[in-house]
Amino acid sequence: VEQRFDAIVVGAGPSGNAAAYTLAKEGLNVLQLERGEYAGSKNVQGAILYSDALEKLIPSFREDAPLERHVIEQRLWMLDDASYTGMHYRSEEFNEEKPNRYTIIRAQFDKWFSQKVRDAGATVLYETTVKELIRNTSGKVIGVQTDREDGAVMADVVILAEGVNGLVGQRSGLRDELKPDTVALAVKEMHFLPRDVIESRFNLKGDEGVVIEAMGSVTLGMTGTAFLYTNEESISVGIGCLVSDFKETGAKPYELLERFKSHPAIAPLLAGSEVKEYAAHLIPEGGYNAIPSLFGDGWLMVGDAGHFVNAVHREGSNLAMTTGRVAAETVVRLHRMRKEMTKANLAEYQERLEKTFVLKDMRKYRKIPAFLHGNKETLFGLYPRLLSKAAQTWFRVDGLDKKAKEKAIVSSFRQARTLRGMIGDAFKLARAWR
Ligand code: FAD
Repeated sequence: VEQRFDAIVVGAGPSGNAAAYTLAKEGLNVLQLERGEYAGSKNVQGAILYSDALEKLIPSFREDAPLERHVIEQRLWMLDDASYTGMHYRSEEFNEEKPNRYTIIRAQFDKWFSQKVRDAGATVLYETTVKELIRNTSGKVIGVQTDREDGAVMADVVILAEGVNGLVGQRSGLRDELKPDTVALAVKEMHFLPRDVIESRFNLKGDEGVVIEAMGSVTLGMTGTAFLYTNEESISVGIGCLVSDFKETGAKPYELLERFKSHPAIAPLLAGSEVKEYAAHLIPEGGYNAIPSLFGDGWLMVGDAGHFVNAVHREGSNLAMTTGRVAAETVVRLHRMRKEMTKANLAEYQERLEKTFVLKDMRKYRKIPAFLHGNKETLFGLYPRLLSKAAQTWFRVDGLDKKAKEKAIVSSFRQARTLRGMIGDAFKLARAWR
């Protein structure tokens, strides 16, 4: 007997779970397919969870979601080999009743989310890989072919939440292959430490947490960033750079991670820890211009598959949840109106997204990826070094008068970069940022 559903969701990451949860909660007959042994088994993330996107789906998530620490302090560091120049923001106001950001461990979080999807009434099948989409003679997507025996399943609409690789979409001709300059390769480790050690090292109490984002010499002039996040009894530490830069330089991701971990500002934070997990994953970082077509006859694309990551703000899972939810809301409305899931009708998904922060932010930063990539030597190498040198000149008390120090700082900048070059850089940044 041929199985038929109102909707099929491919993937059980944050985007697929948000979509399947919304559809099931609204009473649609939903099938969700996940190739992993369980939701989260294949997923890698820092990870910071942004409450707002999840609250819009499950307002009471704090009651039972596996949350690690709520973030009360953000550190932004520019590194050279010996130093960091940083901006720290810590506020007691982040100790609020409903904290705004949490650190999480994706394997546990995705499992919890997946249980919510099942509780809402969706049929969820794990260890099931979708091979390709099934189309009718006029090209409309009408189902999916899985790797199971008798593996064809039919539905009115298929939501592709398959993550960054997007192989189903690619194989089915809905999107191009990923380009190496639009995707970062990130590697990550989990370092275990007793919770009181973490709390004293980071000056925390209870479930408070600190997150560090770092850039600079640690990426060897490549476009990329590193991070360190405190969990309850572990620290997540990772680094990622554009795949095209890895290709060009021949640098090895795990060597970069070793370099970051042994940086004098990072090593003491990890000292004595036990490393238990190592993982690598891609991050879509091409921005707005790399977003593929998001809808067509019988299908929609959400989350990383739709290239929804704001690399500047390190946001991905919230864009994934929001696009998943908005895609599902579109499907629910069309279903209730008994409208066909045609390309013209599903265009409503993109129209709805235009009104959310997702497409507004993606569009705002559309020039940033090219700016970062095109100026990587100065942004990730030269300026962090110059800033560090300037700070050191300024803070070191050595008998040199302050006017002479100012002059030394200005001349170190001007020796490294002409005034015109610096004004040009500032102008390019301002233009890309607008
Ligand atoms: P995914 O989470 O990748 O889920 C896709 C799912 O689809 C997977 O479970 C996969 O197994 C399944 N799948 C794929 N193909 C098939 C198939 N053919 N059949 C069946 N199932 C399939 N974002 C943040 O918000 N905060 C952070 O701190 C953060 N840090 C990050 C750190 C790292 C190192 C990385 C790599 C990413 C980070 N991100 C972060 C980004 C975030 O992880 C992603 O944006 C988010 O996971 C996207 O969700 P998704 O559901 O679209 O895709």
